[in-house]
Amino acid sequence: MGRFHRHDDGTEHEHEHAHDDGPEHGHVRHDEHAQAHSQAGRDLGDMSGYRTAPERVQVLERIFGENDRCARANRDLLDAKGVVAVNMMSSPGAGKTSLLEHTLAHLSGQVRVAVIEGDIETSIDADRLSGYGAQVVLLNTSDGFGGECHLDAPMVSSALEQVDLSAIDLLFVENVGNLVCPAEFDVGAHHRIMVSAITEGEEKPLKYPVMFRSVDLVVINKMDLLPHLDFDLALFERNLAAVNPAADVVKVSARSREGLDAWFRWLEDHLRP
Ligand code: MG
Repeated sequence: MGRFHRHDDGTEHEHEHAHDDGPEHGHVRHDEHAQAHSQAGRDLGDMSGYRTAPERVQVLERIFGENDRCARANRDLLDAKGVVAVNMMSSPGAGKTSLLEHTLAHLSGQVRVAVIEGDIETSIDADRLSGYGAQVVLLNTSDGFGGECHLDAPMVSSALEQVDLSAIDLLFVENVGNLVCPAEFDVGAHHRIMVSAITEGEEKPLKYPVMFRSVDLVVINKMDLLPHLDFDLALFERNLAAVNPAADVVKVSARSREGLDAWFRWLEDHLRP
């Protein structure tokens, strides 16, 4: 049975840890990333092509190299403890937390679970996930991580220090709601999944191909709203297949609970690394 771990008392430690761990590491890296982001934006803004100065390439390579090394270390640690990790991504409001609420309730007493809850600010979602018997560790990126729009491997590494890994079988990392940046950072999970709500439109796989291509499973959520929307489900599935033909798909409504069994089955089939 998973130990219930309130994040209230962990928040301060996490904060201290972020600073202890080395301002050079945390702050410089995140500043560089923000800088690289804005530079990349500028490069795309000027339509003269994809000219990128060599020093910018070096900064980006160093950021991703550092992240990938840390992601491997996270995965090695999880493997050593026999824990399977799932990185959950989506745009804001697609239903990651609602899906997790049902999932924690379903797995309670069968599978020992922890959640690293990533948000820029607030413990609103972490609070929603408490009381299901899972360990919940809050990771606010505004708290020592520059308010980043995604989780990266070093952030997840610091949160893992607060998880009792020998007491769990399954770890969910609920990423920050964003269809761009989270796809670029391996956090050390074994599976990458995303939730896409039908309220977001059919064209999203074509507009955010890096995200849709990066995942093993797309959970299509809010299916209960289908009769009320001008959403062409077949077109969405064609668009998804165009960018990621290998992706598994399950269709659910976290509100009405329809389709949740298919999601639970997928999860059970992937409980081994
Ligand atoms: Mg959430």
